[in-house]
Amino acid sequence: MRDWLPRIVIGTILATGLGAASQAAQEADPVAAHRAAARAAAGEEHLALLETVCRVPQPIQTGATNVPPPSRAVPAREEWYAEPAQVFDNLYFVGTQDHGAWAVTTSEGIIVIDALYDYAVEGAVVDGLRKLGLDPEEITHVIISHGHGDHHGGAKYLQDRFGAQIVMGAPDWDLVERSTRDPIPRRDRVATEGMEIRLGETTVTLYLTPGHTAGTVSTMIDVRDQGRSHLTASWGGTSLFATTSVESIQAYIDSAVRYQQLIETRGADVLIANHTSFDRTPDKLAALADRRPGDPHPYVIGADSVRRYVKVAEECARAELARRLAE
Ligand SMILES: [Zn+2]
Repeated sequence: MRDWLPRIVIGTILATGLGAASQAAQEADPVAAHRAAARAAAGEEHLALLETVCRVPQPIQTGATNVPPPSRAVPAREEWYAEPAQVFDNLYFVGTQDHGAWAVTTSEGIIVIDALYDYAVEGAVVDGLRKLGLDPEEITHVIISHGHGDHHGGAKYLQDRFGAQIVMGAPDWDLVERSTRDPIPRRDRVATEGMEIRLGETTVTLYLTPGHTAGTVSTMIDVRDQGRSHLTASWGGTSLFATTSVESIQAYIDSAVRYQQLIETRGADVLIANHTSFDRTPDKLAALADRRPGDPHPYVIGADSVRRYVKVAEECARAELARRLAE
């Protein structure tokens, strides 16, 4: 009994010493510390996002900056085509093997999230809707997550053919209008913070989350599954580039912090993505096809997991910022 005090004291000293040591390690190597935090947030579900955003961006070969990008070869259909699928009562996957595109059905029209590459929009979105028994003539809005060709390339086609309104962040309208290789839609609507697109009983809310591009838009969508309401979250832009400025990386971090708060406050319990590896769409669509009544829905992962997904993005960006600042 006599030695209990020294033991506690020693224990406290050890614990304090270890704490100080690990804090010192963090300060000595903030890149490793943020990468470790990203790895911890990823769990087993978000490893593809971790691998992409935590990868150190490679500089583009110098000397090629003024050369126009080579024309993009259109891949053979079997290299990109994916079967469309119903995912919720009012949400459908109409993307490709690599890219997510989503159709929200309402009593007053269809809202499409992302338009894919120009070569894929007809086969994936338009024919996909028909294959699912839906009418592409009902597309009223197309929300573009960000102004890169793999997400907006098909927007002009949907605008011209169905009169759909294209919605995009202001800086990304500028970006798209400078494109030299993708069809450029007419500037319809500029996304604003908290903008709601409400059709019938369904609301899609837009949040401005600059970082991947200056005009990246993330969405939340009311969905229903067998009578139960859920809320989806997406993260509109993912990877960081060697050309991304320190200010843009800071904006990415700020967007990620704020979007995590929104996920918590609004209780977004479903993750959907614009790249199929990030939300594990191939596995989930297969699970949905085998789902029996009463089984859990594979896309409903809970708000904590959805928030951790964005935490992965945040911590990878913090690691990249620390790496740049140490250069
Ligand atoms: Zn992009």
